[in-house]
Amino acid sequence: MTPPVATPAAQPDRPTWDLYSTCIHCGLCLQQCPTYRVLGMEMDSPRGRIYQTLLVDAGRLPIGDSYVTHIDRCLDCRACETACPSGVQYGRIVERARAQIEQHYRRPLLARWLRAYFYRRVLMDFRRLARGARLLRFYQRSGMARLLRASGLLKLFGVAKLEALAPRIEDDFFFRQIGEKFPAQGERRARVALLAGCISSVAFAELNRATIRVLQRNGAEVWVPQGQACCGALHAHAGFRDEARALARRNIDAMLDDRFDAIVTNAAGCGSTLKEYGDLLAADLAYAERAHAFEAKVKDVNEFLAELGIRPVSHSLANGGRKDGAPGRAVRVTYQDPCHLAHGQRVRSAPRELLRAAGAELVEMPHSDYCCGSAGVYNVAQNKLSMEILDAKMDDVASVTADVLATANVGCMLQLRAGVAQRGLKMEVKHVIELLDEAYRD
Ligand code: SF4
Ligand code: SF4
Repeated sequence: MTPPVATPAAQPDRPTWDLYSTCIHCGLCLQQCPTYRVLGMEMDSPRGRIYQTLLVDAGRLPIGDSYVTHIDRCLDCRACETACPSGVQYGRIVERARAQIEQHYRRPLLARWLRAYFYRRVLMDFRRLARGARLLRFYQRSGMARLLRASGLLKLFGVAKLEALAPRIEDDFFFRQIGEKFPAQGERRARVALLAGCISSVAFAELNRATIRVLQRNGAEVWVPQGQACCGALHAHAGFRDEARALARRNIDAMLDDRFDAIVTNAAGCGSTLKEYGDLLAADLAYAERAHAFEAKVKDVNEFLAELGIRPVSHSLANGGRKDGAPGRAVRVTYQDPCHLAHGQRVRSAPRELLRAAGAELVEMPHSDYCCGSAGVYNVAQNKLSMEILDAKMDDVASVTADVLATANVGCMLQLRAGVAQRGLKMEVKHVIELLDEAYRD
């Protein structure tokens, strides 16, 4: 294959020959790709997408409707990276391909407006995000949501399924904890900075608080540094790389500090991007070195705790977590690997170790590392395909008997909860850290 016109190094957001030429077209990734499994089309496989991107970069295929459709359908789940024997960094290819789309393709007016509003305004500013979240909470709690659902209007306008996927906004946002410090319990074994997260701060604030408690319980002093921002994962995945870089710089300024042993997150999608700030800021002379130092400190909370070695729990899940000491049945847990933990960060054993250490009876479902179809805002933007992928996932979930479906990413939790509700399964969906928090409660 002849290399296309040399990609100027000054354009960091363009897929480069050295990235996509590593693909040897073997096809081993095809059956691992959720969109290929559903659609059965080469154009919707990793190999097909890489080839289309190569053609675009060589000027032999326009960035038109067809190309955009196939790239938009990719979940950026990176299962293809795990399957690939040639070490193709597919995530880097697709994120750059999307940056090119963002720069050179005009989406319909409404899509353009919604994307710009969400990525360039709401997610860039926690105060704006909080205002939007309060409005959504009012809709959810005031009876309006119930009224609209009962009236059939949501179905009439084709948004009923989307509405069911919206996160439930919590009463007490996590933003007020930003700037606080939480002491370690017992002997201090580490000091960490915690990423609050954007959507997590309004829809998973209690999970963040549980994360702090579990870290404290295990001897970690937890700081939630002032000045931090959204991690930029949603931006990077959608092609808004300038915005992702702006957020990365803010997080580096706020959290890169010699006093911290680690920068911890409980969201796999955020962690995966935090660990790639070096790539994002490679061309930024003022930040490139610090970005590498930053990413070296990032740990998913499961990874961090497993490496630290957790202290014994107070109420083992082995006897149902009973606090009265009476014998009980072990809590059966099946674990769904979030793509950005298993494929993006190669962390698979740590959450399982923690669950076992908490006394849970771990029941492995088939294909636990197949994507659930959540993928950030994919379940909204590509709702039909996302629901088909979820359906296959729920077949695997339903094939095992478990009390809890555990995972380690907030987006996956929302998607899996929707799947459990649709199937009418008697299973709770929880983050691994929530189960640990319960096991440590006095
Ligand atoms: S990232 Fe996931 S959806 Fe995209 S091509 Fe790879 S396996 Fe398929
Ligand atoms: S497995 Fe890797 S080398 Fe083989 S086709 Fe897929 S991306 Fe290319």
